[in-house]
Amino acid sequence: MIKYISKTLLFFTALNSFNPTLFAQTVKKLKTIVVDAGHGGTDYGAVGQYEHSLRSNEKDVTLGISLKLVDELKKQMPDLNIIPTRTSDIYQDPREKANIANENKGDLFICIHADSGPLQTGRRQVGSHTVTRYKITYKGKGRRKKKISTPYTTVEPLYEYYKLPIARNGTSVWIFAAHKTSDKLKAIMSESGQNESEFEIESGTDSTLNNFDFNSPEGRAIAQVYAKRYQEKSDWLARLVNDEIEKTGRPALGVNQRQKGIWVLQATKMPSILIETGFINNQADENYLNSEAGQTELAKVITNAVLKYKTQLENNNNQSTAAQ
Ligand SMILES: [Zn+2]
Repeated sequence: MIKYISKTLLFFTALNSFNPTLFAQTVKKLKTIVVDAGHGGTDYGAVGQYEHSLRSNEKDVTLGISLKLVDELKKQMPDLNIIPTRTSDIYQDPREKANIANENKGDLFICIHADSGPLQTGRRQVGSHTVTRYKITYKGKGRRKKKISTPYTTVEPLYEYYKLPIARNGTSVWIFAAHKTSDKLKAIMSESGQNESEFEIESGTDSTLNNFDFNSPEGRAIAQVYAKRYQEKSDWLARLVNDEIEKTGRPALGVNQRQKGIWVLQATKMPSILIETGFINNQADENYLNSEAGQTELAKVITNAVLKYKTQLENNNNQSTAAQ
């Protein structure tokens, strides 16, 4: 009965406003961060394909950066639970990646990827060769018209074709599309990866929240608030990452939403971002992404952003607790 009153109360609070204190009461701390090294195994992702490229694979670059990111996050936030989706070159279905994040009840989901773009083909003359061509002439008229083909030789240039690297470089951050909030809602309400048919909200100390039934009508309203809240938080972390990238001097390409959406970002019940760390078909970026220095810098930059997110989150909690 007490539980029922609490739920009803929560329901009305949620409906009346997107009051941040509602969440401040439920989101006390960042406990678990899930880091996903994009692609893996038979899924190579994008590949360096321009002439003189390192021929590197996105799946290896994402693993290299992710392993360093996991280490850095653990170093800077030893109390947190940092979970990689993979630590070796294995194939994972996107569903598997999302399940790992959901089953571990992540508070943040960070996906590491590398970008690519369409390559232009260049050509250059590498020599010349003699070829036989035929000149066609006609003799006679009407029915007696006859086709005569006369061979002749000519010297023609010999070309070689090659792929040009792309000019675009830099890092972009992606969040789930606002119009895909309904998908996030479905993920929040789904039963997959849960022990019971209830969704555990964040890691609050309020036990009534942990036993909340999202399939009830009032539960749906709460889930909607959460989907919106996750989007705001994803956007917030994405901005912090973009700001940190800017400080490195490499192009920071901003926070973006894809129209078609990004499946794993929609399927996880937590704030989620995807970082396109660089362009694998840009020469400078490919070298950067494959270098120890580049991978370490990216790991530090992302960790700095998470640290700021964590500090602000905890400050918000303190402020709203003081205001109560
Ligand atoms: Zn990718």
